[in-house]
Amino acid sequence: MVLFSTTGFFTSLIRALNLRMAIIQIILIILILFGLLPAVGKADGRQPAPGDYHPPPAALVEQARRILTEVPLIDGHNDVPWQYRDRVQNHLDRIDFGRSTAGLSKPMHTDIPRLRAGHVGGLFWSVYIPVELAGPGAVRLTLEQIDLVHRLIEKYPDDLELALTADDIVRIHKAGKVASLIGMEGGHSIENSLGALRQLYRVGARYMTITHWNNVDWADAATALPEHDGLTAFGEEVIREMNRLGMLVDLSHVSAATMHDVLDVTAAPVIFSHSSAYALFQYPRNVPDDVLKRVRKNKGVVMVNFVGSFISEEVGLHYFAHEGEQTRLKEFFPADSARVRRGMEAWLEEHPYPQATVADVADHIDHIKKVAGIDYIGIGSDFDGISRPPIGLEDVSAFPNLIAELLRRGYSEQEVKKVAGLNLLRVFREAEKVASRLQRTTAPSDALIEELDGQLTTD
Ligand SMILES: [Zn+2]
Repeated sequence: MVLFSTTGFFTSLIRALNLRMAIIQIILIILILFGLLPAVGKADGRQPAPGDYHPPPAALVEQARRILTEVPLIDGHNDVPWQYRDRVQNHLDRIDFGRSTAGLSKPMHTDIPRLRAGHVGGLFWSVYIPVELAGPGAVRLTLEQIDLVHRLIEKYPDDLELALTADDIVRIHKAGKVASLIGMEGGHSIENSLGALRQLYRVGARYMTITHWNNVDWADAATALPEHDGLTAFGEEVIREMNRLGMLVDLSHVSAATMHDVLDVTAAPVIFSHSSAYALFQYPRNVPDDVLKRVRKNKGVVMVNFVGSFISEEVGLHYFAHEGEQTRLKEFFPADSARVRRGMEAWLEEHPYPQATVADVADHIDHIKKVAGIDYIGIGSDFDGISRPPIGLEDVSAFPNLIAELLRRGYSEQEVKKVAGLNLLRVFREAEKVASRLQRTTAPSDALIEELDGQLTTD
């Protein structure tokens, strides 16, 4: 889940204490307004227009489809559960997932026919809840999202099956169904409770992203001011308990300091369920090269995401410019929303949305391959948590295009199989092994955050 609001970004960001991001955005906007950065997305400037996109040859797409019958493509992050909560308050019958959801007034990226068309072998359904809802009640909301995933799986038993282990993924894929895993997005989901963490594992959660957009009481996020310089002592205990359970530690969204602290303490390989390479676009949600090198040592996996404004500098800068213009208009016309809307329409005429393409995603995979190696790359789309996905990767039916793009770049069949899912399976199996070893020697932790970190200073 990206949760880029396209309106009121200053208020929402500052309210959410994302001061660092707000500062970065303000600086970029100032640079753009004073012409210190190249103007982005101008009609007369360079545009990654659909015409620039050259789809991979049909023969390679066919080859990709065949490959994906042999190994499961495993997507690290899909936000359909949030769509059910946001659109229909988790009333399952109000979105027919067995038919195309592309024709809804607000189209979705995922449904069963398109999962089938995209040869998706497995995916982590994100049981994301917003950071604004952190605090008492977050566990209940997370449980409700997990319940939604269980109900969705039970409603479509011919197509979906709950996967709790790496072997489950392989078996379910062989049976011709989509292996459905559960990933929690943000440490706020456990309300600082290791007991809650253990029970969430029992109901199926197999990864937890350590933070979302904001810091938690025990770890820093990439998009907030640092409070803890990474993990606190309790944060380290959370990682150890996740290792003992066999719950994958997900470092998407966390600060670089948190990445390093987790890599210092974890006994199991880590994942990044939906993150790309910082060297290609210096955005804090991306993974720096020094961390990529440590992922190689840790034998983890970075599952490359499809968020245009993370993977393409041009799209990212357009986003900042768009938000800056909107803020400027709102300041000029605080009581005239129609005028703001017209102004934004005119601005967008002049500065049409640039779009990332499947080639941008492949560039990030190339980079991670170069720095970390082919064994440490996966795919984490963020479908149904993003708007304007890349050209050529419009929805879950398009995954074969990415595999075909890699084949076109000279990746071998064995290499694309690793990226598609074998690497994630290896990491998951290793995490399971570490867990069974730790469970023989280590009791469940009954540590409390107050004991390890002292009284909380935050709310
Ligand atoms: Zn996310």
